[in-house]
Amino acid sequence: MIKKIMAANWKMHKTWDEAVQTAREVVVGIGEDLPPDREVVFFPSGTALKAVGESINGQNGYFLGGQNFYPAAQGAYTGEISPLQLADAGCAYALVGHSERRHVLGEKDDFLAEKVIFGLSSNLKIILCIGETIDQRRQDRVEGVLAAQLQKGLEKIDQNVSAHDLVIAYEPVWAIGTGETATEDDILQAHGFIRKMLKDLLNQGQEIRVLYGGSVKPDNCARIIALDNVDGVLVGGASLKADSFSRIVLA
Ligand code: PEP
Repeated sequence: MIKKIMAANWKMHKTWDEAVQTAREVVVGIGEDLPPDREVVFFPSGTALKAVGESINGQNGYFLGGQNFYPAAQGAYTGEISPLQLADAGCAYALVGHSERRHVLGEKDDFLAEKVIFGLSSNLKIILCIGETIDQRRQDRVEGVLAAQLQKGLEKIDQNVSAHDLVIAYEPVWAIGTGETATEDDILQAHGFIRKMLKDLLNQGQEIRVLYGGSVKPDNCARIIALDNVDGVLVGGASLKADSFSRIVLA
């Protein structure tokens, strides 16, 4: 069974205490009700990883992820964290290419490609985030932008690496943190296109999960998650409160 991923990206929010508390409230609140076809991934800040990991340890269907890493095992990279350190803290997943890393911190596709291959070969499951800006959408360039981000981001993947551990998140930049969600047609079109690109690039069609992210809320999640080719959601703002995120997980 291919499980849907319900991911909480807490960005640079929460002390470790608050992060542990929120994760616990979600796990305890949902209890036995977590549908067997769903898994939950928490992406807390680096300082809270270990503690959140310990608080969900042994809970079926709950996983920990790192928001970022540097593509090296170790070394003189002050301020960075390696995939091995993420795994050591209990992470199974890591994000690559989140729009804030691309557009606020200036990460480029060739660097993201290095992260994808290095993360996968370090045994992390990688969620590669892609998505167009509002100007690119207005210029009718959505498919061109998605194709380029996928082509470049995945160009280092070879047969030695299992693309089964790869997840793509379609996150239109204009929908992140704005309260403006993509329409169902926008999502269907983008996800169908991504699915086709994955088949062309990696010869893997349905195996790679494709998530939607961008102002997902408790009241729109059920509709989004039911769409063709949507294998989960990546949630920012609405994942910060346990009650709101739990309603999304169960939507
Ligand atoms: C995100 O940060 O990936 C995100 C989708 O944020 P929000 O849900 O707040 O739009």
